[in-house]
This record gives sequence, C-alpha cells and structure tokens, in this order.
Amino acid sequence: SPAPQSPAAQSPTARTPAAPPAPVLRMESVRKTFGGSVVLRDVGLEVAPHTVTALIGASGSGKSTLLRCANLLEDIDDGAIWLDGEEITDPRVDQDAVRRRIGVVFQAYNLFPHMTVLENITLAPRRVHGDSRAQAEKHARELLERLGLAGRADEYPDRLSGGQQQRVAIVRALAVRPRLLLLDEITAALDPELVGEVLNVVRDLKADGMTMVLATHEMGFAREVADQVCFLDAGVVLERGTPEQLFGDPQQERTRRFLRRIV
Ligand code: ADP
Ligand code: MG
Repeated sequence: SPAPQSPAAQSPTARTPAAPPAPVLRMESVRKTFGGSVVLRDVGLEVAPHTVTALIGASGSGKSTLLRCANLLEDIDDGAIWLDGEEITDPRVDQDAVRRRIGVVFQAYNLFPHMTVLENITLAPRRVHGDSRAQAEKHARELLERLGLAGRADEYPDRLSGGQQQRVAIVRALAVRPRLLLLDEITAALDPELVGEVLNVVRDLKADGMTMVLATHEMGFAREVADQVCFLDAGVVLERGTPEQLFGDPQQERTRRFLRRIV
C-alpha cells in the first residue's frame, strides 16, 4: 500500500508550511511471531525527523525484535513499515538498499577483531557504497575525532576499553551516513564507569539532529534525551508519550509497576 503523503508532499509548490514533517520511520499494525508465539502485536510507531524515541520495557517485551523488524533483519507477519515514506516491507523493495540507510548498534560491541578500528569503520562505506579508500578513511577519521577517538584509528578492538569499542561501533554505524540510527541497549554490557562516555555520544548525536530509536534500561537517560518514550509490555506498545507524561504521569498500572521496579 502506498505511503500516505502530506498535502505538501503531493504538491511541492504549495505554500502550506503547517504540514508536519513526514516521519522518518513509521510502523503500522506490525505483528511478529516466532514459532507459535506472538512477540509483537499491533505495534504502531512514528518517528519524526531529528527526534529520539526510547523503547522501554521488561526483558522479553519485544524491544530488540521491534528494532530488528525496523531494519528488516526480521520479516514481519502482518502490518507495514515505512522509511522516509517508502514502504520497506513491500516485497519488491531492495532490502539491502534499505539497510544501508539505517545504522544499527547492538548491546555487545561486534567489531571485527582482526581488523583495525579504521578498517572496521571503512569496510561498509567501501564495499557497500563504493567509496574510495581515501574518501572512506577521511570520513572515518573525521567521525573518530568527533567521538573523541582520534588517536585510535590503527588500534585493534581488543586494545580498547568497552566504552571505546562501543563508540567505535557507533562511528561504524555513522560511516554510511544513515538516515536513522537504531541503538539496542548499547550500554548494557558496559562497566558502570564506561556508560557515561557512550551516553554522551548519543547526546551529541541528538544535538546534531540525528534521528534515533533506542532500546534502553537507563531510565534517567531516556527521560533526559527522548522526545518520545514507548513502554512495551508483552509485545504491545502499552503506553507512549513524552518523558514527562510517561515517567511523570503514567496512565497504565503495568507502566507504573514497571517504573516502580526499575527506577
Ligand atoms: P527485549 O529486547 O525487550 O528483551 P526481545 O525482542 O529480545 O525482547 O524478545 C521478545 C520475545 O521474543 C522474547 O520472548 C524472546 O524470547 C522472543 N524471541 C526473540 N527472538 C527470537 C527468535 N529468534 N526466536 C524465537 N523467539 C525469539
Ligand atoms: Mg533486547
């Protein structure tokens, strides 16, 4: 089915500045099952440009699956997903081309251990986007500098702290100039003293206008950085709102119970 278009999108010359920007990511009625069990049920999500959406919820509530569906790492059973107005769950879509527009960082830093930091970062831009080595390395060095890793380009991952490795993983995701960044509990495997440096990177990216969806157990951080918070419960987006609404005045008993337990 075609993406719904705003009046402005249908008529580029129309002078109607009031139309809200088209969402970068939109999910509608997404259903995902594994074997017989329903893992996502009727999930809807809209992510506006330059905003941060935080997914919160207990382990097993479906946060990772939602992110993996958004990146087409999982096929959905029902519903539809749009990226910049294009329905990416349309079977005719080139899934690899879609994935190139989305950066993903997972919980465990999955850098290639036999490659230097620079080689890790430049692999996708060179192989997938066809950038020259010089172009890819220049961009990689700029990003490393920006994330406070300027001196690390020629190190191997095992020479870096967990926080540094995770920052390199973020640089690697940014190296393809993604439209959208998906971050799945990127601080969960870190020693507590290393969490802050990674969260600072996310703060900086937000300040730069990067559109992000992040699953997190860091409630204080979600409250601070998110424009929208979604509480997942057993595969359902049970409640959503601004951080003020969701943390300050949760409407659902299950949300209140979750927040009491975790905060
Ligand atoms: P969260 O990230 O919120 O902890 P997940 O999305 O990882 O939740 O998991 C949601 C549910 O889906 C869990 O019950 C989990 O066991 C199940 N699940 C996730 N991935 C798979 C898979 N590949 N095969 C079968 N079940 C899965
Ligand atoms: Mg998860």
